[in-house]
Amino acid sequence: MATSSAGLCDGLKQYIREVPDFPKQGILFYDITTLLKQPQPFAQLVDSLAGHYAAQNIALVAGIEARGFIFGPALAYKLGAGFVPIRKPRKLPAATAAVEYSLEYGTDRVEIHRDAVQPGQRVLIVDDLIATGGTAVASAQLVEQLGGVVAGLAFVVELTFLHGRERLAGYDVMSLLRYDQ
Ligand code: AMP
Repeated sequence: MATSSAGLCDGLKQYIREVPDFPKQGILFYDITTLLKQPQPFAQLVDSLAGHYAAQNIALVAGIEARGFIFGPALAYKLGAGFVPIRKPRKLPAATAAVEYSLEYGTDRVEIHRDAVQPGQRVLIVDDLIATGGTAVASAQLVEQLGGVVAGLAFVVELTFLHGRERLAGYDVMSLLRYDQ
């Protein structure tokens, strides 16, 4: 059973590569590519995420660029849902909706096609990792701007010491691998 501090699949942590000082000094980067290349751990991870949302009538999985594009489609397939991309600025070809959010220095923006979500559709937002939660909050606002219902936000890795989850109060937030420091 999961406890409040342990992740649901702690055994999978051994497959995540931790890279110090990437992409810049002082950042410990959690590299999921070392997990993805292992068939059984990858399957366990997708199955665990899908299990949590199986009975929740998810119409669409929205993956956040870029690593949400890896887990999102696998999860959508398992759930019998569609997949839509949430992208960085100026990547999507048709009419978009956008939400800007603050970074430590400056701002960033996420975009989605205006016709990606129909009003009332239940949308599960997916990314590889939640840190401060800024990207996830903006993505939830984006889905809601189109009239979608955010059914949940799912992450493979959660950096609990950055308290991103607190910014998502009121949403169903799940993560599989939690790091407390
Ligand atoms: P945040 O908006 O602060 O929650 O940042 C989350 C986004 O940045 C996700 O798309 C992650 O892929 C990426 N990210 C932030 N910190 C890390 C980290 N330490 N290791 C890997 N990816 C990270």
